[in-house]
Amino acid sequence: MSTASLMVAGRRLHVAAEQRDRDPDAAQAAAQAFLTALGIDLDHEALAETPARMAKAYLELLTPREFDLTTFPNDEGYEQLVLVQGIPFRSLCEHHALPFIGTADVGYLPAERIIGLSKLARVVELFAHRAQVQERMTKQIADWLAEHLAPKGVGVVLRAEHLCMTLRGAQVSGTTTLTSAMQGLLLNDARARHEFVTLTHPAR
Ligand code: ZN
Repeated sequence: MSTASLMVAGRRLHVAAEQRDRDPDAAQAAAQAFLTALGIDLDHEALAETPARMAKAYLELLTPREFDLTTFPNDEGYEQLVLVQGIPFRSLCEHHALPFIGTADVGYLPAERIIGLSKLARVVELFAHRAQVQERMTKQIADWLAEHLAPKGVGVVLRAEHLCMTLRGAQVSGTTTLTSAMQGLLLNDARARHEFVTLTHPAR
């Protein structure tokens, strides 16, 4: 599920993550066995549907919605930074199968095409809804936009709280992990990079 399948239709690309075989019934049965093995009594009426709900919740976390990538010609020759901040996402840490939850700032310097702004949130979801690590997710979003939008620069910043860190192990709640990926002029041009970093890493 590492690559997205793309069907070219003019300047609209239909984007759907490649799904590995899913078996909701097997997931539900496994959830039942898992919870029972952990000593949770599923005989109580309130818990009877818990294995089904658990399987459904995980399947939802692992299934990005399909979308059409719409891009438009950059007729006005807009050359400055386009930046969408605070895109919420939820993903699943592949090491612990526990969620990590946060926000994404996604920016680019347009070249020939500009992208429908809401699509940036869909690209984040495309890479969030799978078994993931935050570092890889950050880079995948940047790489995908570089490939499909061919901008002059792209920058992605993710901030997330990892439940595997706050619920167990170190048990440090309220911590935020920040990762970033910059390419093109947002990496190599000092002025553009400074603007992006200033906007996405406000002093606090
Ligand atoms: Zn983890």
